[in-house]
Amino acid sequence: MSGANAVKEDRLWQRHADMAKLGGTAKGGVNRQALSAEDAAARNLLASWAKARGFEIFTDAIGNLFVQRPGSDAKAAPVMSGSHMDSQPTGGRFDGMYGVLAAFEALEALEDARIRTRRPVMAVAWTNEEGSRFQPGAMGSAVFARPERLGDALAAKDWDGVVLKDALAATLKAAPMPMRSGAPGFPVASYVEAHIEQGPRLENEKKTIGVVTAIQGSRRYIVTVEGEEAHAGTTPRAARKDAFAAAARIAAAMYEATTDADDTLRFTIGRVDVAPGSPNTVPGKAVFTIDMRHPSNDVLDEHEKKLEGIVASRAAPCPARIERITNVGSTDFDLTVIDLVRAKANALNLSNMDMPSGAGHDAMHIARLCPAGMIFVPCERGVSHNEAENASPADLAAGARVLVEVLEELANR
Ligand SMILES: [Zn+2]
Repeated sequence: MSGANAVKEDRLWQRHADMAKLGGTAKGGVNRQALSAEDAAARNLLASWAKARGFEIFTDAIGNLFVQRPGSDAKAAPVMSGSHMDSQPTGGRFDGMYGVLAAFEALEALEDARIRTRRPVMAVAWTNEEGSRFQPGAMGSAVFARPERLGDALAAKDWDGVVLKDALAATLKAAPMPMRSGAPGFPVASYVEAHIEQGPRLENEKKTIGVVTAIQGSRRYIVTVEGEEAHAGTTPRAARKDAFAAAARIAAAMYEATTDADDTLRFTIGRVDVAPGSPNTVPGKAVFTIDMRHPSNDVLDEHEKKLEGIVASRAAPCPARIERITNVGSTDFDLTVIDLVRAKANALNLSNMDMPSGAGHDAMHIARLCPAGMIFVPCERGVSHNEAENASPADLAAGARVLVEVLEELANR
């Protein structure tokens, strides 16, 4: 039996259903934010499945979770596949979780088909990919690729002031795993991440498999506007330093400056905090986030200058500043991995197309360490970061079939 034939669509679908209960929302989505109690529950569930199959499981200093099926050459670096189990506050059942469960399905399929590989094959769940609770996102994979970032990552604070180090300790207490000593990171032979597309192209073009060639660059910023708190009923306009009014002017100018003719630049203000947050007090402070993406780093540079100019010119009478908190350059995936994904999809008679990824993924960090690539499957109407996110059991299984074939071949190289 081949690895692809050993993939079980029902098993893979049921695992998604089981995971969706952890942080499940009334609207059918999930709220399983990084290093929450729900995240710990997901770790325990994955570990219980791994133990039942006799796979080794361990974690590292940033809480990345690894499940390993041994190879015949104990000294060979592993082939790795996975994604993340954390979600947006109003997230879906498939973003990230599919990549972890497809990788786990690949391990099980290899086991069921009694396929011996030379290299170990590893499934991984990276810590805090979403970056909605602790910033920046894709943190676990970033620290794995650059262990010198561990200290900064552990010091990150969530919106309530909880330090990541403490949240991680609580998570590892609720979901205890064997700890790999030392700094995160170890040699990896190659990495392939499966993920729902999170956009509408595969569905529109009626293709089952996206052969991912690259990931566009992304940057995040925080804009802080300082005002002065005042009585909402008595303070005349000329005497106000209204932080939100200034933030709104800045935001409006930014939307205009980032509207490009070919609709490639992505600009999002996804969070606004106004203090003190009282209906009858003029806001003394407004803080908002910016997420900006484009396949060209030059275009991002050019627009960053525009954003800085707007903050400098539109905030008066309030002092304001813009801070860049992440800058992830565009990633080109490895040609041999790209070709292998396409060849395996073709061999399985699965319709496919080459495409770049609009979203960032853990693979962009691991691509710094070893040959890497990604496999996309369609999601309904391209909806993601939304509780209505959906995908078909058949498409999910198709992606897992391509994945196991790719991993098997890479694990014998
Ligand atoms: Zn994701």
